[in-house]
Amino acid sequence: MENTHRDIIVVGAGMAGLLIAFYLQQQGRNVLVLEAAEIASGQTERTTAKITSQHGIKYSWLIDKVGVEEARLYAQANETAVREYEKLVWENGIDCGFERVSSYLYTLQDAELLEREAKAAAFLGIDAAFTRETELPFEVKGAVCFRKQAQFDPPELIRRIARKLEIWEHTKVTAVKGNSVFTEAGELTADKIVIATHYPVLNVPGFYFLRQHQERSYVLALSSCKPIQGIYYSADKGGFSFRQTGEYLLLGGSACRTGQNRDGKAFERLSEAAGQYFPGAREEVRWAAQDCMPHDGIPFIGRYSMFTPQLYVATGFQKWGMSTSMVAAMILRDEICGMGNPYAEVFCPQRFHFRASVGNLLTDVGMSVRGLAGGLFGRPRCSHMGCKLSWNPEENSWDCPCHGSRFDKDGKLLDNPAKKSVESKGLSQTEKL
Ligand SMILES: Cc1cc2nc3c(=O)[nH]c(=O)nc-3n(C[C@H](O)[C@H](O)[C@H](O)COP(=O)(O)OP(=O)(O)OC[C@H]3O[C@@H](n4cnc5c(N)ncnc54)[C@H](O)[C@@H]3O)c2cc1C
Repeated sequence: MENTHRDIIVVGAGMAGLLIAFYLQQQGRNVLVLEAAEIASGQTERTTAKITSQHGIKYSWLIDKVGVEEARLYAQANETAVREYEKLVWENGIDCGFERVSSYLYTLQDAELLEREAKAAAFLGIDAAFTRETELPFEVKGAVCFRKQAQFDPPELIRRIARKLEIWEHTKVTAVKGNSVFTEAGELTADKIVIATHYPVLNVPGFYFLRQHQERSYVLALSSCKPIQGIYYSADKGGFSFRQTGEYLLLGGSACRTGQNRDGKAFERLSEAAGQYFPGAREEVRWAAQDCMPHDGIPFIGRYSMFTPQLYVATGFQKWGMSTSMVAAMILRDEICGMGNPYAEVFCPQRFHFRASVGNLLTDVGMSVRGLAGGLFGRPRCSHMGCKLSWNPEENSWDCPCHGSRFDKDGKLLDNPAKKSVESKGLSQTEKL
C-alpha cells in the first residue's frame, strides 16, 4: 500500500461516519473513510429518516434521572442538529426532500406522562406543546408536538457528501493499535481515528458491549393511504410510528430486543395495524433494522476510552441516528480540532449515571448470563462472545440477544459487533428455538 498516512481515519461510512468525515474535512483535515461494504449499506440504508430532537419520553426522564442541565444540553444539541441539516442542505443545494414538519409523540394510554413530557421539553427551550388533536386515523389520549422538526430522503444527501470525501469501500478494519489501523489490505496510520461502525468493533478498551444492547424494529412501506403531514412516534410499548415519503406511508413498530422475535410475528403485527388503520392500503416493501440502546439513554460520542487519546467513537443512537449523527459530527469536529464543544460533556463516553443506568444494566447482565450459560450443545453460539443465538423465523436469521450480532441461516455474518461468521456445519439441524 502507498500513501498510508492521513490526519484522520474514520471507520464506517454510515450517516455518522460520513457526516463526521465531512465536517472534519471542512476544517482542512486530510480525512480517509474506510468502509467494510458499500457507502450507507448498514443501518442507514434502512432508516425512516425523521430528523428530530423528539426521542420518545426523553426530557422528563433525563431531568429526573440525570439532571436538568444535562437534559437542556441534550435538547439544544439535537435542536442544533436539525438546523445544521437545513444549513447543509441549503448551502450545498441538495435536493433531498428536506422539509420542516411537526413531530408528534402520541399515546393511546396515559396522557399524564405526555403532559409532563411536554412541560419538560418546553421548560428546556423546545417549541413543544401538549395536544389531543392529531391527523392519525385513530383517537389518541394525548400527544406532545415538537414544532419545526424535519424529514428528508437520505440517498441524495449521502451521495452529495460522499462525492466530496475519500472513501475506500470493501475495506474492512480488522484491528486498531495505537495510531495504526489494520485492514485486510494492509496497515494505515492516522493522527486521529474515529470508530463509526454503528456498534463499536473494538471490545477493549471502551467495553461498549457492557453498556448497550441492540433493539430491532420493523417497517412497512404502504401505498394507497391518505397522506399524513407530520411525523409520529408512539410512547406506548408495542405502538407504531408513521411518516410520509412521497406516495408511501412508512409504518414502523414491533420493536424488540434483537434475538427476541422468536414467534416471528413482527411483520404480521404491522400488517394487521395497516389493515386496521388504513383499509385498502397496499404493502409495497418491508424491511427491518436495529440500533444500539445505551443504558442511560444518552449516545456515546467522544474519546473511545480514557487510555486512547487518539481514538474516538460515535454509537448508541437509540433509533435517533439522523439527528445524533449530526450531533456527533459537530462534537467530534470541535474536539478533534481543539475548538471545544458545549455538548461534549453530556455525550462523553466516560460518564456514568448510576440512577439512569442501573435498570438496563441489570437486564443486560441477566441476558448475558443466560446467553452464556447452558451446555455446549443445542443452539449455535455467537462468534462475538459466545452467547447462545436465537432463531428469527421471520427473517431466517440467527440473532444474538446479548449484544445483537446477527447471522444468516448458513452462519454468515449480517450485523456486528461480531466480526466473523459462525461455523455453518450442522446449523440447519440445530434446535431453532
Ligand atoms: C427501523 C428503524 C428506523 C429508524 N428511523 C430513524 C429515524 O426516523 N430517524 C432517526 O434519527 N434515526 C432512525 N433510526 C436510527 C438510524 O437509522 C441509525 O441510528 C443510523 O442509521 C446509524 O448510522 P451509523 O452510521 O451509526 O451506522 P450504519 O449506517 O450501520 O453505518 C456503519 C457502517 O460501518 C461499517 N462497518 C462496520 N464494521 C466495519 C469494519 N470493521 N470496518 C469498516 N467498516 C465497518 C458498516 O458496513 C456500515 O456501513 C432508525 C433505526 C431503525 C432500526
